[in-house]
Amino acid sequence: MRSSDVDRRRFLRMLSFSTLGLTAPRLAGAAGRLTGDRQPFTLGVAAGDPAPDGFVIWTRLAPDPLNGGGMPPVPARVRWELFADETLRQVVKRGTAIASPTLAHAVHVEVTGLAPDRWYWYRFSTDDAVSAVGRGRTLPHADAAVSRLRFAFASCQHYEQGYFTALRHLAREDVAVIFHLGDYIYESPARDGRTRRHLGPELFTLDDYRNRYAQYKCDPDLQAAHAACPWVVTWDDHEVSDNYAGPTLRLGRSDEGFLRRRAAAYQAYYEHMPLRPGWLTHGPVAQLFRGFRCGALASFFVLDTRQYRTVQPCGDNTTWPCDGMLDPGATMLGPAQAAWLFDGVRRSSSRWNILPQQVMVAKVNRRQNGRDRFTMDHWAGYETERQRLLACFAARPDANAIVLTGDLHSSWVNDLRATADGPTVATEFVGTSLTSGGDGQDLPKPIEAVLADNPFVRFYNEQRGYVVCDVSPRQLRADYRVVETVSRPDAPCLTRAGFIVEDGRPGAQRL
Ligand code: FE
Ligand code: CA
Repeated sequence: MRSSDVDRRRFLRMLSFSTLGLTAPRLAGAAGRLTGDRQPFTLGVAAGDPAPDGFVIWTRLAPDPLNGGGMPPVPARVRWELFADETLRQVVKRGTAIASPTLAHAVHVEVTGLAPDRWYWYRFSTDDAVSAVGRGRTLPHADAAVSRLRFAFASCQHYEQGYFTALRHLAREDVAVIFHLGDYIYESPARDGRTRRHLGPELFTLDDYRNRYAQYKCDPDLQAAHAACPWVVTWDDHEVSDNYAGPTLRLGRSDEGFLRRRAAAYQAYYEHMPLRPGWLTHGPVAQLFRGFRCGALASFFVLDTRQYRTVQPCGDNTTWPCDGMLDPGATMLGPAQAAWLFDGVRRSSSRWNILPQQVMVAKVNRRQNGRDRFTMDHWAGYETERQRLLACFAARPDANAIVLTGDLHSSWVNDLRATADGPTVATEFVGTSLTSGGDGQDLPKPIEAVLADNPFVRFYNEQRGYVVCDVSPRQLRADYRVVETVSRPDAPCLTRAGFIVEDGRPGAQRL
């Protein structure tokens, strides 16, 4: 049998909901039907934040997902099971969790005590219904000599601007983990004339954000990608508000309610992501930066470049340089995250050190009429800290630093240099959006001048898709996968370009 047939059957099985029959296990002592006639697992399942001994599994009970969830305002018990095999015969662990109305009846179970570096399957059930089956994978033991890691990264999935076709293809890539670099939702109200339509107004309240996540999570392609493997998520701006900066709206525009809004957005994010329970601190503060280690092969430093940053200098757009760009007090990471990152890279013994994060590190000059212009919402607007980051990479040439970036809705491969013509100290792979921006072109005309002005840019493309990376001790390979269109469903996916970075040699080489 062709492997695509196996994939397809597995894919269909993952998506199939079934109602428990007479032989199904029941929750001991659970009282009555909580969800009426509608099954509660409308938002799918997810695994996340893998460790050598386990991962988080997630679901949320929402029989009426687009209208607040539809659960009665009381806690509900949810049963979970974890299996060693795809046929669900061998139960490894099971338990019950409480889905609380204060967290929108979301369930986050930290499964521990598992074997390293292997697949597991899981599902949830209530008295009346059983969820889709999801697949999770533990990381290798921290000291293991790992010969290969296959992972993917993606970002920016504006629901209105396209079908999640790329996620359907991503679900079949057979990667061990997917990094999502943010813009998981967009906060904007519905707009006419788009491929799909947001429900509800611009998001401000907890209920607004919850309903928006629910609308996105009802998408079967998104559910399939979550069910396929663990995700490690981080956010960008649109999970809260466009280009917000730390405690303020973009450009520091004052809004007394902003921190309340940020708190609501952060809570809804937690409620819909496979993050560790206990992560949510309540209020507008939550530590999302964190590390993952895949044996001796790779360390991942997952960054949050929104929550702690200072306000963008001289506008958040692409503009002429200004003094604010060089402000030594400006920060993208905030002091605690910066210390953790720089110290972590300095001490790392991993072959590859990979930074999944949001905005572009390469300082791309979009010259106009002979005048330099830079994008202030990117690292270019925070030049002092950007130089610190590049110095950190330069001090550890053996660390093989790789930056993974989202946000731009276009694909870039950049050699990272402290100055435009200095030595390359690291490599940046910017992934395009999954849908945001709608159907894009391969190489739109106006970008040609930009590429000529910025010779450290090795590749540019404006189609929708994601990036798959294959890592071995010898090299890291990145394949840019793109879909033909997102304005119609069912488009095929193809590899637009492939690059490798060799161990000990920063900079990408086109295959
Ligand atoms: Fe985006
Ligand atoms: Ca963004």
